[in-house]
Amino acid sequence: DHISKNHTCGICWYQFVENKLVFELSCKHAFHFSCLKKWMRKKTHCPHCEKPVV
Ligand SMILES: [Zn+2]
Ligand SMILES: [Zn+2]
Repeated sequence: DHISKNHTCGICWYQFVENKLVFELSCKHAFHFSCLKKWMRKKTHCPHCEKPVV
């Protein structure tokens, strides 16, 4: 796994910047809130580990 956990958004692959809104799922994977919002329109699992989101 080349992605350091909780440092890179698993949807857009950009690193987190401090002032950007980050959302953490129940599986402890974090993504940009805006990226997650787009992703969740079509899917209901974590983009990273594919665990269903509660
Ligand atoms: Zn992102
Ligand atoms: Zn996950």
